[in-house]
Amino acid sequence: MATKVIYFTVGLCEEQAEFRSDDPADDIKETFRSAAEAGPNDILKLYNSRGNLINISPRIPDNTPDTRYKLDVVAAQCPGDKPLAEQLGFDINDIEQRLNALEKRVFIENGDLPRSVGVIQGQVEGFKNKLQGVEHLSWLGLFKDISSGTSLQPFWDKRALQRNDDHDKHIYEKYIRMSQVQITDEVRQYLRKPTFDNWQWDDPEMLVLLQQMYIDLGFLSKFNIELPVLQTWLFEIYRSYNSVPFHNFKHCFMVTQMMYGLTWLVDLQSMVDDIDILILLTSAICHDLGHPGYNNAYQINAKTELALRYNDISPLENHHCSIAFEILEKKHCNILANLNKDQYRRVREGMIKCILATDMAKHNEIVNNFKAIMDHFDINNKEHKYLLMMILMKVSDISNEARPMNVATPWLDCLLQEFFNQLLMILLKTADISNEVRPLEVAEPWIECLLEEFFIQSDIEKLEGLPVAPFMDRDKVTKPSSQIGFIKYVLLPLFEALGQLLPVIEKDIIEPVRNALDYYTQMQKAVEEEKEKNASSEKSKQNGLTNKMNGDIKV
Ligand code: 5GP
Ligand code: MN
Repeated sequence: MATKVIYFTVGLCEEQAEFRSDDPADDIKETFRSAAEAGPNDILKLYNSRGNLINISPRIPDNTPDTRYKLDVVAAQCPGDKPLAEQLGFDINDIEQRLNALEKRVFIENGDLPRSVGVIQGQVEGFKNKLQGVEHLSWLGLFKDISSGTSLQPFWDKRALQRNDDHDKHIYEKYIRMSQVQITDEVRQYLRKPTFDNWQWDDPEMLVLLQQMYIDLGFLSKFNIELPVLQTWLFEIYRSYNSVPFHNFKHCFMVTQMMYGLTWLVDLQSMVDDIDILILLTSAICHDLGHPGYNNAYQINAKTELALRYNDISPLENHHCSIAFEILEKKHCNILANLNKDQYRRVREGMIKCILATDMAKHNEIVNNFKAIMDHFDINNKEHKYLLMMILMKVSDISNEARPMNVATPWLDCLLQEFFNQLLMILLKTADISNEVRPLEVAEPWIECLLEEFFIQSDIEKLEGLPVAPFMDRDKVTKPSSQIGFIKYVLLPLFEALGQLLPVIEKDIIEPVRNALDYYTQMQKAVEEEKEKNASSEKSKQNGLTNKMNGDIKV
C-alpha cells in the first residue's frame, strides 16, 4: 500500500505527516492532533491554500511543501460533565493532565524528574486551589460558588475576543437608525469640550457622535466622503476593537473626542491644513485597533505572533496601523477613496507617524525632540508640524486625567484591571509548561514590574493565603501609587511642553491634571497615615502579647 506525505503548518511551525491510505481515519486525526499539541477534545481544522476546509481522512488530497495546508486548533470542546471548564473555554485540569504526561515522559527518558517540573506542578495545583477559593476574584469565573448565569467572561477565554454577529448587527442597525435623527446644537457644542463624559453614551450613540465630528469639520464635502461609506467604515472600526477592559471602542472614542476637543480649543484649523486635521482625527480613531489587552513588553517577552511579525519593533502600534489600512482597503469602507494620489500619500504617511508615536517606549524621545524645536517652532516646517501632530496624538491618548474626576476614575479602574489580567495570564502561562512560551522568561520581568503596584501585591497575597494589610487594598492604594509617578514624570512633562507652544490649553487641559496630582497626593498621604496607625497598633498589640507571655501585666 502506498504511503503519502502531507505538508502543513501549525502556528509558525512547518510539519509533515506520513501515512498509508489504508490507515484508519482516527489514527490520521491523532497524528494531526499530536502535531498541533491539541487535547483530545479540541477541534482540528485543516485548510488548503485557498482557505477551504479539508476533511482529515485517508483521502486528504496530495500536496507539496509549496502548497502546505494550514492546521488550526479552532476551539476546545470541554466534556459535558465539567460545567466550569465549559464555561471558561479554558481547562486548568487539562494543564494538569499535560503536566502528568510530561512527567511520565521525562521520567521514562531521563529516569529522574527535574526539580523544576515538580515546582511548577506544585504551583499549578496551588494556583488552581487559590483561584477557586478567592471570592473577590470571582470575576475570573473560577470561584467555586460562582452564581449561574454570570455575564462576566474570563479574560483568557478566546470567545471574549470573538465577535457576536447578532450583537454587532443590532449595534449597526441602531446606529443607522439614530444617525437619521438630527443631533441638537447643545450636544454638538458639548462634544467639543474636554469635559465631555463618555459614560453616558452607548456604542451606537458614540458611532453617531464620531460621524458628527466628521460632518461638523466639513470633511464630507472637503474630501468627498460619502455618508454610507463613512458609516460602514465607522462600524468596521467599532467591530475591530476587542472587548478588553481598557483598550476598547470606548477608549477609541474618548481619545478621538479629546483630539476633536483640542482641535476647537487651540483653533487647529487656523494653524494646519484640513488634511492634517483629517489625519489627526482618523489616527485617533484607529490608534488602538485590534488591541489584545496585553502590552508590548508582554508581546516581546512571550514571543507572540505580533512580536515575531514586527521584529519586536512597536508590535502593537504596527498592528493597529496595519489594521487601519486593511479596513481602508475595503471599497465600502474607504473614506479616502476620493483623495488624489498626493493627498492619499500624505494621509498614509501622517497616520503611520501619529499611530506609531503612541508607543510609550518612544515617549521621552518624542517629548525631547519637541522641546528642542520649541524656541524656533515653525508650523511651515514639515518636521516641526509632524512633531506637533505626534504630541497632539499622545496628549489625546493619555488624557484621562485631564478629564473631570467622575469621568477619569472609572478609566483608571479599567486600566488597572487590564494590567491585572495580564499578570494572571502570565501566571497561567507559567503553569502551562507545554506551551511554546518560555514561561519564566516571560513571567519574571512582568511579575517584578507589576508587583510594584500595591494592589497586585495584595491580590497575590490573597492568592498566597497571606494576610493583606488594609493599606494595600486594591481600591485604596492602586490609584495614588500608579498615578502620582505617571502624572509627575509622564503626563505633566508632555502636557506642559504642548502648553508652552499653545498656552490656551493651560486652563482646560493642564490644570485638571495638576488637580488630579494633588488629589492623588492627598490620597497617598491618607494611606501612609493609615499605614502608620496600623503599624503602631500592631506593635502595641505585640507588646501586650509579649508582656502577657512574660506574665508581666501590671494592673
Ligand atoms: P495606549 O496603550 O493607550 O496606546 O498608550 C497609553 C499607555 O499609557 C497605556 O497603555 C498605559 O500603560 C499608559 N497610561 C495611560 N493612561 C494612564 C494612566 O492614567 N495611568 C497610568 N499609570 N498609565 C496610563
Ligand atoms: Mn490608546
